[in-house]
Formats: sequence, structure tokens, C-alpha cells
Amino acid sequence: MEITKEVVKYGNEVLREKCEPVEEVTDELKQTIAEMIDLMHESNGVGLAAPQVGLTLRFFVYDVGDDKGAHALINPKIVNKIGVRWDSEGCLSMPGLYGDVLRADKVVVTGLDENGNKVRMKASGLLSTCIQHETDHLDGVLFIDKADPETLHTGKVPGRDNDSEDEEE
Ligand SMILES: [Zn+2]
Repeated sequence: MEITKEVVKYGNEVLREKCEPVEEVTDELKQTIAEMIDLMHESNGVGLAAPQVGLTLRFFVYDVGDDKGAHALINPKIVNKIGVRWDSEGCLSMPGLYGDVLRADKVVVTGLDENGNKVRMKASGLLSTCIQHETDHLDGVLFIDKADPETLHTGKVPGRDNDSEDEEE
């Protein structure tokens, strides 16, 4: 699987496609996941979804900076949502743009990890936001579709200023 060298930017229609389920976790997919994790880290992102590298498949990689490190979630399905909260979001496909999105506070998600093992996890905080943001990408939905328009603003692009508090997914 060939991935783009850079994260696909807003305006590219691949970001609006509905992605297809992954049928098998092959060695080729594992290699692609490793490349995506590198690109995510280079871009200072906390999440990167397959369409953001030109692939219309249902998976994403994430690393919210906790002790669990970087992983993939394949064929993610949010099976439970608990509570709601507003959180500021950005997106590697729209660098420097931020806005407040109403999300579920906590989610329970199922899927497969990068080794093809079944996963079921309850996520809160940044990981919960990340999972919801990335899963939306797999349905062609972007955070600007959901953000309160009055809160949309431009800010610093992560990586150019280590003091930036905004996270991009
Ligand atoms: Zn995004």
C-alpha cells in the first residue's frame, strides 16, 4: 500500500470518501501502519486516519502521549458513548485551524489492533476525542463539519512552537 509522503490536505476529495472495512491484517498493512505512525510523529499529530494518507480503508493510528505509545485501531466501532463535553480540536489536514466540537465525554470502542488482535477499550480525555475525530474521518466527516463556527480560529502549527497547547488529529 502506497501512502502519501505528506498528510493529504483539505480540499482533496479522498477526505470525503466513506472508507471500506479492512478484511485482513496483512504484513503489508502492518508496514503501512508503521509508516503512518512515523508520519504522524513527524507531523506532531495525536492521530492520523487512512484517508489522510490517500487510503480509503477503515483504520487509523494514534498516540496521545501516554505510556501506551503509538497504536492502530482497525475497523473501529464506537459501541457506547457516555456524557458530552466541548473540546478544542485541530486536524493535520487543516494545519493551524482549531475549533470547539461537542463530543461524547467517554466512549467504548471495539476493533482490531495493529497485530489483528480484538480490542475493546473505554477511552476518556484526549484519547476519547481522538477516537471520535479519527472514526469520523473514515466516514468522510471532518471536525469543521461539527465545530461551533464561532469558535473556529487559526493558531500556531504544532512543531513550530513547542508551547502550543492545541492538538491536531
Ligand atoms: Zn483530522
